[in-house]
Amino acid sequence: MLIDLHAHTTPRSNCSSATLEELVESARSRGLDALCITEHDVRWPEGELEDASRLLKFPLIPGVELSTDVGHVLVFGPLERPLWLGYRFEQLVEEVSRTGTAIVLPHPVRSVAGARAKAAGHVEPSAAVVAGWEHWSLVHAIEAVSTQTVSSEHELTAAALILSPMPSVGASDAHGPGLAGAYATEFSGRVVDVEGLAAEIRAGHVSPVKFHG
Ligand SMILES: [Zn+2]
Ligand SMILES: [Zn+2]
Repeated sequence: MLIDLHAHTTPRSNCSSATLEELVESARSRGLDALCITEHDVRWPEGELEDASRLLKFPLIPGVELSTDVGHVLVFGPLERPLWLGYRFEQLVEEVSRTGTAIVLPHPVRSVAGARAKAAGHVEPSAAVVAGWEHWSLVHAIEAVSTQTVSSEHELTAAALILSPMPSVGASDAHGPGLAGAYATEFSGRVVDVEGLAAEIRAGHVSPVKFHG
């Protein structure tokens, strides 16, 4: 199964210019089986994403992109604390070790590599440094590719994954029309809901896929 794990809609993520309908149209046109909606620090109200999924006749799976002290973390499954309280990464790891929730590290080197980081004066670390980050191996998977990251970031991430192997995923991180499904994740098992998705990610039954066009 092909699933895009990471996409933002307007107006729930104010950085996105794509409506849910536009994201679904793009994911459908690339032949995806499902799309995860992961707004920043906010979930869709109970039932609303299911209703939209029925209306658009396309599987939509709820997630959230949490801001933590180590950066953004994608979360699939329930959380015990209200989101407005926020999470430290350590707290999140402790909690998901007890629950079935899956956590994925998106754009893992964006703060230290790529054009934006360079402009901010960061010197790109070696792959060994990235592979040695504590949070690298405490998530269930690393987002290896997305539309919000550049090839130098993809290369550094790939090199770090060789030194410290982790399950890896592809995801669009779509913030605009036409981007959903540009990268996706292949699941070897069948996924029909967020519980199943989290279980497959936690089991490492995932691999990244890139679509052309
Ligand atoms: Zn992010
Ligand atoms: Zn994002």
